[in-house]
Amino acid sequence: TLTAKDYAEYIKLAYDLIHSKGDYITELDSVTGDGDHWTNINMGFENLVKNIDRLEVMGLSDEFKEIGKIMMSVIGGSSGVLYGSAYIAAAKVLKEKDVLHDADLCAVLKAMLDAIVARGQAKEGYKTMIDSLAPAVKKYEECLANGTPTAELCEQVKKAAEDGAENTKNMEAIRGRASYQANRGLGHLDPGAVTMSYQIATLMDYAA
Ligand code: ADP
Ligand code: MG
Ligand code: MG
Repeated sequence: TLTAKDYAEYIKLAYDLIHSKGDYITELDSVTGDGDHWTNINMGFENLVKNIDRLEVMGLSDEFKEIGKIMMSVIGGSSGVLYGSAYIAAAKVLKEKDVLHDADLCAVLKAMLDAIVARGQAKEGYKTMIDSLAPAVKKYEECLANGTPTAELCEQVKKAAEDGAENTKNMEAIRGRASYQANRGLGHLDPGAVTMSYQIATLMDYAA
C-alpha cells in the first residue's frame, strides 16, 4: 500500500533516476525528435521535488491533481500536456482514498493511460510512451485477476514496462516528432517510452 507521503517519496526516487540519465535520453530524442525530452521531463520532476514538502502532506487525490498541474505548467512539449492530463485524470479516480492498495494503483495507471490516449490520439504501436504504459497496465490487470502476490506482481509489471519501451525500437512512429523523420524512427528507442519505463520501474520497486 502507498500513502501520499510514500508517493512523494517515489517522486524523489524517480527524479534521481531521470536526473542521472540526461545524456542518454537527450541523445535518444536528438535522433528521433528535437532533443529536449530529458530537459522537459527533468525540469518537471525537479519542480515536483522542490514542492515535495507541500505535496506529501496533501490527501492523495489533491496530491495527484497538484502534480498534474505542476507537470502541465513546467514541462514544455507534448509530454507536459500528456503527463499533466494523466495525473489530473488519476486524481479523479482517487477521490477520498488515503492509501493505495494494489487494485487502486492499477486503476490509477489505467486512468493515466486512458487520459494519455484521449489527449494525444495515439495508440499502442505508435512508438510513444503508451508503448511502455499500456503493456504495464495489461500485466497489472492480469496479475490482479490471478491473485499474484504484490512482490511478484511488481516485478512483472516493471518488466512489462521495460520490455514495452525496448520494443519501440522496432516501431515506426505514427504520432509525435519521430513521425516526421524519413524512417519514422525505426531502429531507435522512443525517449518518452524509456522515461515512462523509468517511472513505472521506480514505482514498482518502491511498491514491492
Ligand atoms: P516534444 O515532442 O513536444 O518535443 P518531448 O520531447 O518532451 O515533447 O516528448 C516526446 C515524447 O512524447 C515522445 O518520445 C513520445 O513518447 C511522447 N509523445 C509524443 N506525442 C505523443 C502522443 N500523441 N501520444 C502519446 N505520447 C506522445
Ligand atoms: Mg522533444
Ligand atoms: Mg520539444
